[in-house]
Amino acid sequence: MHIPAILEAYPKFIETRLHNRFFKHHHLQPILDELPSEFECTIAGNSFEHRTIKLIKWGYGPVKVFLWSQMHGDEATGTMALFDLFRFLQNDLFNEFTQKLAADCTLYVLPMVNPDGAERFNRRNAQKIDLNRDFKQTLCPEALLLKQLRSRLTPEFGFNLHDQSSLWSVKKTGNPASLSYLAPAFDESLGINKTREKAMLVIADIFKTLTPYLPGQIGLFDDEYEARAFGDNFQQAGTSTILIEAGGLRDDPEKQLLRKYFFLSILSGLHSIQTKSYTAQGLQGYSCIPKNNKEIFHLLIRNIVVDQLLLSIGINYEETPEKDGCSTLKYYCVQDLGDLSGWGAYQTYEDPGYTLEGTIELYEKANFDLKKGEKIILSFRKGILQSKL
Ligand SMILES: [Zn+2]
Repeated sequence: MHIPAILEAYPKFIETRLHNRFFKHHHLQPILDELPSEFECTIAGNSFEHRTIKLIKWGYGPVKVFLWSQMHGDEATGTMALFDLFRFLQNDLFNEFTQKLAADCTLYVLPMVNPDGAERFNRRNAQKIDLNRDFKQTLCPEALLLKQLRSRLTPEFGFNLHDQSSLWSVKKTGNPASLSYLAPAFDESLGINKTREKAMLVIADIFKTLTPYLPGQIGLFDDEYEARAFGDNFQQAGTSTILIEAGGLRDDPEKQLLRKYFFLSILSGLHSIQTKSYTAQGLQGYSCIPKNNKEIFHLLIRNIVVDQLLLSIGINYEETPEKDGCSTLKYYCVQDLGDLSGWGAYQTYEDPGYTLEGTIELYEKANFDLKKGEKIILSFRKGILQSKL
């Protein structure tokens, strides 16, 4: 697979009708309706609030691959990447690969598993339940659908597509974990069987392909066993499951650049499966992926005098969706004070001429100005960022 050529052509097949994180179920339907006949689109089920959840089948090969996105309604990157994939599969430029992929694999795609959550830009579904903790009880129709589909399709591979907090960083780098991968564990002992090993090897392939484009910005997601989660249970049921998480990327709050690398991760995984190149990988290609940790702030003011002490201030925001689910409000909070060397940030402010006006309260909403002379560099009122230079 010639990655530079794919990246160069990416603007030609990006699904431009999805251009921020806040698209809804009704935005997806006309795009799905337009798909050509090689995409077999059927209604697989309905959400709690009766929004249709569609399954798209593409290809006719023996290796079945199941991909699903947005179990969490506010995690839209995977869905954008899947719609880019639909357009990629229709693009003549890549015929040579897509024909082989169709002959060797059958893709089953379930985008936006949680349309009711997406409507509100909320993690949970309309019953206020986290679908990815509902595997065992299956109180939610969306969870039941996903579970039944896997049992019916018996895919060899699964792609579980999510977004993670932008506050995950890659250990010892100070960089955001822009992407994280994981082959979820299937039991408490975090054992490795053939199913999980295959997922690990595909991830090793993906990591090798993507790391030149996001150096030091890809991490391994926490692999603690979660008995109620889908990835862990699908792995146990014999589907080699690959978790991909979109985190944060500097200067890309709407994740429009990150979606490209997310798409590329999926494509690279499909290529690995189609060519079976993963069989040539070793497990060290998986275990060498640096772990995620939390050593990054959204904003970091370094070496500033506060109450006659020279210290650093780490500030993070939390996003709250607006009522219409079409934007978020960011509340900034002072997260840490003191020696923050070793920590990274999306944006760092450091200048011997900087002064602070207002009070700095730990764990409280930011309410101060950062100034240089009379010029305002940063200004917060009750947690809301008023201005930023
Ligand atoms: Zn998620």
